[in-house]
Amino acid sequence: MRERPRVITRRQARQYAIPPTGEAEPPGRNLERLDAPIYLAGPSHSEAPISIDVAADCSNSWEAHRAALIIAHPGHELRVHHWLERAKPLVLVLTDGSGHTDQSRLGRTTALIERAGAAPGRIYGALSDRALYRAILAGDADVFIALAQEIAHVLDHAGVDYVVGDAVEGANPGHDACRLIINAALMRIEATRGRRLGNFEFTLEGPPDACPPNDRDAAIILTLGEDAYRRKLEEAQSYSEMAIDLRRAMHSHQLEAFRTECLRPVRYGLEIGDCFEHPALYEGYGEQQVAAGFYTDVIRFRAHLAPLAERLGRAAAQVKPAGAP
Ligand SMILES: [Zn+2]
Repeated sequence: MRERPRVITRRQARQYAIPPTGEAEPPGRNLERLDAPIYLAGPSHSEAPISIDVAADCSNSWEAHRAALIIAHPGHELRVHHWLERAKPLVLVLTDGSGHTDQSRLGRTTALIERAGAAPGRIYGALSDRALYRAILAGDADVFIALAQEIAHVLDHAGVDYVVGDAVEGANPGHDACRLIINAALMRIEATRGRRLGNFEFTLEGPPDACPPNDRDAAIILTLGEDAYRRKLEEAQSYSEMAIDLRRAMHSHQLEAFRTECLRPVRYGLEIGDCFEHPALYEGYGEQQVAAGFYTDVIRFRAHLAPLAERLGRAAAQVKPAGAP
């Protein structure tokens, strides 16, 4: 087991009543960021972060580097709203956030990120939430491999230096799958171009301000000032589609916690089994939903996410350097 402080505890989880498509969205405040070097854990499972070439150049200014935000669901961007304003990343979103409805949240997110000065990328609501969960349940790894390929292409083409995205928390299979796709995409870029991108994550269920001591030097940490915090709160409050998730987040965390945005270095590749306690929270939730007659199947880590990770890893291992025969 890697030494990795728990992002989310069972006790916290019981408070959350986490739904499989649920998010925890926030409010937050101004910042002064800790100038942090950009690190990438990459496909190795080393405890030590591996610095990348760009780290030397941007250790005093991550804002000088091209960023991408990659999230499973529209609305996640609220958690890192001020970083969004500062970094103005390319934003890629896997699903339309429709959940169990047919109501897409993409329009709301598009308006929000454009107000922040960021821009939508080519992958933007590629799947409905239902399609994402069906693909996970069916073990349809080709869907995820294709997304990793496409994301790698988009990041490479846009000259992105570092990526920020969902953390693996064992709380929502869509979030965990998103992280697997991100890591697989970065592995592909490294294999084809020999270029390592910085790789950061933020929690959607765990405390927004939590940054393990051994990650602090390599993390991007923003502490919001009053104006930035007010803007973040206003965006969160006007995102009506996220109201339920917001209330849950407020219930789970102190409001003050959202003044901090902690982008932690990702120190794992595709082996995510040590990132959370087992069974994953989404398994218990799925069992409840099946018992209640709402779902017919339960997404499980061992049966669904772990094989998906393995397929993504096998596909990435077959990638050849650009120009190779
Ligand atoms: Zn989500």
